[in-house]
Formats: sequence, C-alpha cells, structure tokens
Amino acid sequence: MADKKLTVVICQAQGRNPVKRQLEEDILAALMADSDVDVSLLPHLYDMPQNHSGMEFLRSVPGPLLVLGWLYERAIRWTLDRAEIRGHEGETLLKNEDDQVDEDAEMPELHGIGAVEVPDRRIYCIDLRASGDAEEFVEEVQRMVSAEHGSAFDLMSFIQGTPSEEQLSRYLNPERQLEARKALDNGTANSSDREALPEDTRRRWYPVIDYTRCTNCMECIDFCLFGVYGVDALDRILVEEQDNCKKGCPACSRVCPENAIIFPQHKTPAIAGADGEVSGVKIDLSKLFGGDDGESAIEMAVLERDRELVLDGRDAVGTSVGLKQRDRDEFDDLMDDLDALEF
Ligand code: SF4
Ligand code: SF4
Repeated sequence: MADKKLTVVICQAQGRNPVKRQLEEDILAALMADSDVDVSLLPHLYDMPQNHSGMEFLRSVPGPLLVLGWLYERAIRWTLDRAEIRGHEGETLLKNEDDQVDEDAEMPELHGIGAVEVPDRRIYCIDLRASGDAEEFVEEVQRMVSAEHGSAFDLMSFIQGTPSEEQLSRYLNPERQLEARKALDNGTANSSDREALPEDTRRRWYPVIDYTRCTNCMECIDFCLFGVYGVDALDRILVEEQDNCKKGCPACSRVCPENAIIFPQHKTPAIAGADGEVSGVKIDLSKLFGGDDGESAIEMAVLERDRELVLDGRDAVGTSVGLKQRDRDEFDDLMDDLDALEF
C-alpha cells in the first residue's frame, strides 16, 4: 500500500474557443507548479474512442483521479465508467449552476443495476463551465488534495490496459503538448510537434448509461431500431454500437423510465446529465424530456425516431414498435407531486 498523488486531467473543449482554451491553459499552468498533483491535458473526453491513447492513459492512472471537462459531472462520470475507469465518487463543491441539487427536494429512489467492482480510490469530476476563474478550480483541487491526504492505495491492483510508454509520454508532458498545439494552430508545426500531440478525435454522439439509475428494463433496446444497444454476458444492457446512433437524436433518453440515459452534448440540461432536475423552479420534471411546444416525452421520441428512419430510407413506425405501456410507479407519483407544487 502507498500514498498516491492526485492526478488531475484536463479534457479540452471541442473546437478552438479562445476563452475556453485560456481557462484550460491557466488551470494547467497553475497546477504544473503544484508539486502535490500530477497534471495532464487530454482531448475532449466524450469524443475519444475507447482505444484512444488518452483513454489508455486514464486507465493507467493508479490513484485518485480528478477529471475536468466541458460536460456535466454525471456525464463525465458515466463516460469514464463506459471506458471501465472507475472509483468511488469524490465530492465536488465547485459546480455548474445548472447542476445544483436542491438538498431539500425529494429525489427519485435509485435502484440501478450498477453492481460492478469499484477500485479503492476516489474519482472526482468537475464541469469546466462551473467558473471562468482558474483560481477557483485551483482552490478546489487543493481542497481535494487535503481530502486525499493520508489515503493509501494498492497501486497496481486496478491499472488497466496496456498503453505503450510512447503513448503515455504525450500525457506526462503537458507543457510540450501545449507548445505543440500552439504551433499547430499557427501553422508552424513540424513532425516533432505532431508526435507530441494525441491522435485526432472527431465529434461523437451516443448514449451513456447511468447504471445507478438503470433497472435493466430493456425499453431502450426495444425502442431503438438502429442497433445501438446490446447486452453483456450477464444480460446487462450496454451501448454496443455507439457509432450507429443518429447524430442529434436523443429519442431513447425520453423513453427510459428512469432517466438513466445521458446524451452529454444535448442542449437540454436534464438529457445532458445535469443533476438538478428535481430542484424546482428551473425545471418542470413532468415536461423534462418532452418538447418545447408541449409534446410529451413519448410523442417527441416517436417523432425523432420516425425522422431518423425516414432519413435512412425506411418506413416510419409511429407508436407501433418498441413502446411498453408503463405501469404507474413511484416515479409517476413523484411527477404528479411536483406538478401539484406548480413549479
Ligand atoms: S430504458 Fe433506461 S432503465 Fe431501461 S434498460 Fe434502458 S437505460 Fe436501463
Ligand atoms: S438516440 Fe436514437 S439512434 Fe441513438 S440510441 Fe437512442 S433511439 Fe437509437
């Protein structure tokens, strides 16, 4: 057993937004000067394929891990889980204001199927939209370092994957990576700069399952007619063919009775993984997954699925395929209670 430093990973924004890049660089510069943490720079978390060297790097981190990314905390956590990067949930105090849970609000009971073995370390996640001030992130990192002080880990027990040293070295020298990225942006990059940078990623769109909520009811696999979902050896639902998912289609997230399906890049916070859906004023839970013009969640899902079927040259199926009549359950009761409160 040994003490282990906190590894901080900054996952970069998509595109070249200068404000976002500056924030990433300011946090990176401050943390590189902090001997209490190891810091690395990675491409956008959601866009990295499972075999990307950045994912391999994340799998190789042996101790406590903090991932900062341009996604809601829940979306970061379950995107990591999908890549088998796991740990106990570390507490984060710095939060995106769309992602605040009302402590007094009644939350739906969680009865998920997420009973997988979790390594004995903590994983912290922070949404980089939580603040525009790098100093606030640095203070939060220092708080986490204090929380981790004295924690001990069996270092080798859960290192996964077999990343090569060459792959890992890209992430161990973020200063060089930053320099190479700037050269690429300026059009002055040479071959050594290109080698210092991670493999390219493209923008992706696929569902991520929150297994603390998922009950394995299989409604998503019945509803999706594009072969995205499958089951593992234990008949547990999983996202099997992520690239079969139709860009911009969040239909199955509207059908899932447990709100367990996250589309991290969707514009609606609840679908993108925000945790504050029962916090009242901001979001009406009964309309949460429905349309802006009052369509129910199921109506929206059917419209979205039909649109994608027609774009694929297939026939629309409406409500005739893959929809189960749900029994009234506690979740519906909770929605009624919230309606009665007239948020
Ligand atoms: S519909 Fe939701 S709860 Fe049911 S299996 Fe799919 S993700 Fe899990
Ligand atoms: S969003 Fe649409 S295409 Fe993608 S998994 Fe869900 S139903 Fe299938």
